[in-house]
Amino acid sequence: MFKRKKEDEIYMKEQNFTIWLNSVRLDLYREVRKACLPGILKDRLMTAISDMSLLNVTESSLLVDCGRLDGGRIRATNEIVVCKRNRRLLLHELVHSVQGTEYDAEMVELRVLPNEATPPTPDDYVKFKAEGTKYF
Ligand SMILES: [Zn+2]
Repeated sequence: MFKRKKEDEIYMKEQNFTIWLNSVRLDLYREVRKACLPGILKDRLMTAISDMSLLNVTESSLLVDCGRLDGGRIRATNEIVVCKRNRRLLLHELVHSVQGTEYDAEMVELRVLPNEATPPTPDDYVKFKAEGTKYF
């Protein structure tokens, strides 16, 4: 579980993070709009990107420890935690935030950001088999 840092320490980092998040939000919105994706998934992703704010995306430096994670989602609150400022990673977690499976998240990476997508890991293939797909 993630632990919070002090409020004043968080404040300065949040200002900088907000600027990054807003520029990435515009990028991702444009890329998702022009990508070839199933219609329902595209609609849900575009809505998620439009509604995205510091309330639902948090940078790991605002938290104590990410461990080995690149990013993740706190299921109870649907909050995304970004452990690197990386738009591919944010997009991946956004797919999970609209109930996409691991396969869906990897497929979206490939179709929306083909030059940045990373190949699936052996762990991913285990999840592909176990979870299947919700959208493809
Ligand atoms: Zn994932």
